[in-house]
Amino acid sequence: MKKIILGLFILTTSLFAKETILVQGAMDIETEYLIKALSNPVKEQIASWTFWKGEIGNKTVIVSRTEIGITNASAATTIGIMKYSPNLIINQGTSGGHDPKLHAGDIVLAEKVINIGAVRTERKEYGIPADDKDGIFFEDVQRIRDSKGNTVDYPYFSSEKKIIDIAKKIDYKNGKIVVGTIGTADQWNRELERIKFIHERYNTSAEEMETVAAAQVAKAFNIPFMGVRILSNTDIHNEDFNPQTAIWCQEYTIELIKKLDL
Ligand code: SAH
Repeated sequence: MKKIILGLFILTTSLFAKETILVQGAMDIETEYLIKALSNPVKEQIASWTFWKGEIGNKTVIVSRTEIGITNASAATTIGIMKYSPNLIINQGTSGGHDPKLHAGDIVLAEKVINIGAVRTERKEYGIPADDKDGIFFEDVQRIRDSKGNTVDYPYFSSEKKIIDIAKKIDYKNGKIVVGTIGTADQWNRELERIKFIHERYNTSAEEMETVAAAQVAKAFNIPFMGVRILSNTDIHNEDFNPQTAIWCQEYTIELIKKLDL
């Protein structure tokens, strides 16, 4: 009898338990539209990082303004997980194009996320010039411990396949939707030769400054992750930063949140 009551209890709590989604953006322009979409928002400030907890439809959604760069994104992700226990983390926002096929307004669903700043070099003597091409991928940087305490090297991190599949089907009018690789570093690269080199080495669709940090922390806590990046600029086609793209990416992310059934 006790077992049946316990079973019923677990069944009803899981049926009525709300899905909790942590949705991140680095800057004000990448979060304000999401915050406006929340019903009953409650703002919480923890040190440098701000969170708004509310609802979208029947889901609990926490909008997290991570601030810019890897350090900020990893701290914001850790705090967001510890405080709100999300079932999914979505990192979204702007990016710069690496793939000549892509233009501002196109959306990249981050099948792979890689730390393109994780580079070491072998010793070279004075007089031998530095060359980006001699950089060796520093895989220890993407190493995390599994639940048994063993270290595992990740050549890249990934978004949740079933969420990519839902995201691919969203009707989006401001550009294409592609599945690709996001490269993260505390860098903003505008040298075309360097962009081409990174694109050829890592097959990056676009670069930005947060996704790998969020994806790596999510993986360490075993929480499903989804990266969504819109191209806001691409030097390959002389397209400068267009702030409107940040709004389009948030509109798209809201559509995605509504479609999810975790
Ligand atoms: N304060 C600046 C913008 C900072 S840009 C301004 O208003 O002009 C840095 C942010 O934009 C990061 O959060 C990064 O994720 C994103 N980003 C967009 N395009 C980028 C690019 N080409 N390279 C690197 N980061 C980019």
